[in-house]
Amino acid sequence: MALADASTGDYKDLVRKLREDLTDPNLPRNVRWPENLVALMLRANGYCEYCGTDLVSSLEAFWASETDHVIPKDRGGEDDYELNKAIACNWCNRIKGKSWPDDAPGVEIRDRSARIAAVRPMVLERRRQRRLVEIFARFREVLELRRAQPKEVADEV
Ligand SMILES: [Zn+2]
Repeated sequence: MALADASTGDYKDLVRKLREDLTDPNLPRNVRWPENLVALMLRANGYCEYCGTDLVSSLEAFWASETDHVIPKDRGGEDDYELNKAIACNWCNRIKGKSWPDDAPGVEIRDRSARIAAVRPMVLERRRQRRLVEIFARFREVLELRRAQPKEVADEV
């Protein structure tokens, strides 16, 4: 199929169909998307707004994408897709959690992109934390060894 030009009716039809698919009331509730989440994903071009991971690079990445309150609700962040929601990979969302940089202004920032820019360095720094990388590497090493063993032997440890 030829790539539809984003200015054509074909593209608009694809987007309309996508919205219908993702908001289909027959989908299980936990995978159904609210209308404004579809808009958020499109606005981000399908990239994590913190780390830039391509959220449609795999089925897993797509279904693991999450929304984040850029300024956490307990810091006054609004439940507002235009101002305070970001689309993120689940790793960025988890590692950011409910934090907000102490030295960054808060809800007085009235621009969503500026809010994301204020917190992005903290998220990226946390992603690089040596300790977390080491834990992951160790876990992978353990599992590689475990998978190479008969189950009975691996279970003894
Ligand atoms: Zn990310």
